[in-house]
Amino acid sequence: MKNVFIYSNNDANSLKAKNELKALLEKENITVKDDFSSDIELVIAIGGDGTFLRAIKASDYSDVLILGINTGHLGFFADYSPNQLDEVVKVCTSDNYLIQSYKTIKTEVETKDSKIILDPAINDIYVKHGLSSIIHLDLSIGDSFIESMAGDGLLISSSAGSTAYNYSLGSSIVDPRLDLLQIKPVAPSNNAVYRSITSSLLVPGNENIVIEPKDVNDTVIVVDGNENKIEDVKKIIITLQDRVIKIIRKPDYKFWNKVRTKFI
Ligand code: NAP
Repeated sequence: MKNVFIYSNNDANSLKAKNELKALLEKENITVKDDFSSDIELVIAIGGDGTFLRAIKASDYSDVLILGINTGHLGFFADYSPNQLDEVVKVCTSDNYLIQSYKTIKTEVETKDSKIILDPAINDIYVKHGLSSIIHLDLSIGDSFIESMAGDGLLISSSAGSTAYNYSLGSSIVDPRLDLLQIKPVAPSNNAVYRSITSSLLVPGNENIVIEPKDVNDTVIVVDGNENKIEDVKKIIITLQDRVIKIIRKPDYKFWNKVRTKFI
């Protein structure tokens, strides 16, 4: 590789790792850049999973390779640690690495007078009220109407995001080899007036999940933690798309080993 973009959070440990790695890569005649450009062959994210997601956004969601160095966070996406910088240099100087591809989530929003495509999501889309109020949402899968739900909102997660907010809500961890979307009602109201499914629903990734907000001016659609407040939303259509992110994994990477070491 000739051009590498290093994206780091501002923790002292991350900045130290960034400086050390930059020096090691430059010794190998690799140019290290602080911003993304079209000639970048590898993005290196130093921090936690949040930093990893922000590095992908800073790289315009291009399908460039991305490698994570974890500096003391949960680090589900990152396989390397700051004391393995030599291994990271080896990745950059050889073609010998394992690539894990994840499809991203596409979100199309129809408002009273426009259609908007939001940024691709790696983890999840959360649809909620613009104020801290209960939201009423009609949910359909394809052209099958499922329910009118009332509650905090609906979380739609990819397999990659199944270990994030989805897991905190008690929903299933999904093997990333499965291309599916998981719909989880968040704090649904269940009483004599409202009825909602409380478990999560698993749907094939190529299916359209259609959400129609009712009686709400401002809907907030959270894409991997980034809020989009949109007025007069009529319909939100969510599906998995072929636009992928490509993560460099260690040769011995096994998803279920990672689950055990991070959660048990
Ligand atoms: P944040 O609210 O600052 O931190 C969210 C936490 O989720 C961090 O500990 C992060 O790990 C972890 N995380 C992110 N992606 C993950 C993944 N795929 N698997 C396992 N853990 C993951 O927000 P952020 O750092 O910008 O990340 C955005 C994500 O936060 C959203 O996509 C959403 O899933 C998640 N979130 C979770 C909750 C919750 O669990 N109650 C609430 C809101 C949002 P690191 O410590 O390694 O950064």
